[in-house]
Amino acid sequence: MSSARHTRLLIIGSGPAGYTAAVYGARAMLEPILIQGIQPGGQLTITTEVENWPGDTEVQGPDLMLRMEAHAKATGAEIIADHISALDLSRRPFTAAGDSGTTYTADAVVLATGAQAKWLGLPSEEKFKGFGVSACATCDGFFYRGQEVVVIGGGNSAVEEALFLTNFAAKVTLVHRRDELRAERILQDRLFRNPKIETIWFHTLDEVLGGDNPPGVTGVRLRDLRDGSLREIPCSGVFVAIGHAPASELVADQLETHHGGYVVTKPDSTATAIPGVFAAGDITDHVFRQAVTSAGMGCMAALEAERFLAAEDAAAPAAPDVAAVGAG
Ligand code: NAP
Repeated sequence: MSSARHTRLLIIGSGPAGYTAAVYGARAMLEPILIQGIQPGGQLTITTEVENWPGDTEVQGPDLMLRMEAHAKATGAEIIADHISALDLSRRPFTAAGDSGTTYTADAVVLATGAQAKWLGLPSEEKFKGFGVSACATCDGFFYRGQEVVVIGGGNSAVEEALFLTNFAAKVTLVHRRDELRAERILQDRLFRNPKIETIWFHTLDEVLGGDNPPGVTGVRLRDLRDGSLREIPCSGVFVAIGHAPASELVADQLETHHGGYVVTKPDSTATAIPGVFAAGDITDHVFRQAVTSAGMGCMAALEAERFLAAEDAAAPAAPDVAAVGAG
């Protein structure tokens, strides 16, 4: 059923940036509406231990996001389970179309849609997605109990996935295109000390090998980047962890983007080129991309939205004084 909702502040996305913007927006009495999107809680809901969220030596990602949601609700933000499929920033109020049929209009918008996993783009990767190829060890790792798996990548995500997979798999092979990992030192130490993990340097995934009947992965063909030679190794699962790309499709033709789709904001600000539209977290941050920096940007976005709306209110013509008009 279609319906319409208007809000002073619409927050799109439910990761650390979105929920923090909701907390600050609610405390500024803006009565924000936050739309959660397809994956409520965002990327942290598909991780396990988070060890760099200040105040928690160790916290489970999904628990942390439930706490953030509860905090945003407790401050008075309205959290809605809906997904925005179209956003019109060409005129105000801004208009967002929800899959639920609800049309949301807003005086200001915080874009906090985060990022999504990148893929290599190989036809065989596409063919076996869901049949042995995955970008989420915490979602699919359980299926590989006692089997051999391969992880592609050299960043925090790849190393965390490899470590997590050792809980199930008999052997984990990490394949990286250089001979140096990008991951934090503490994660690298754990990786190198784990007897179940082998690392193959200077290689990329050339092809996922598998059968059709039933569909399933039987191995990978790797390319040695030093001499182009190929080698095959058997495995039943392939986890692609080569980074994340910003989820900026909603605004790609309305706002300037750079570095592969990250929304451009003004220096030292979350303001975009459209007055009243702010971007926070992984949709705009191509440098740090941490939960804590995303939360910080969510705070900035709400504070900047509040100032923007207050300046507009102050500039608006005063409403006629009804008592004075009646007395005349
Ligand atoms: P990332 O840091 O960008 O690392 C991507 C890795 O994939 C790099 O090692 C890169 O190789 C490799 N790669 C990229 N394209 C490739 C290709 N076409 N073929 C083969 N390899 C390719 O991405 P991420 O690990 O997803 O992390 C994203 C951000 O989230 C980072 O800022 C990270 O710190 C953060 N994060 C933090 C935590 C945590 O704090 N616990 C956990 C997960 C993610 P090169 O190194 O050669 O470029």
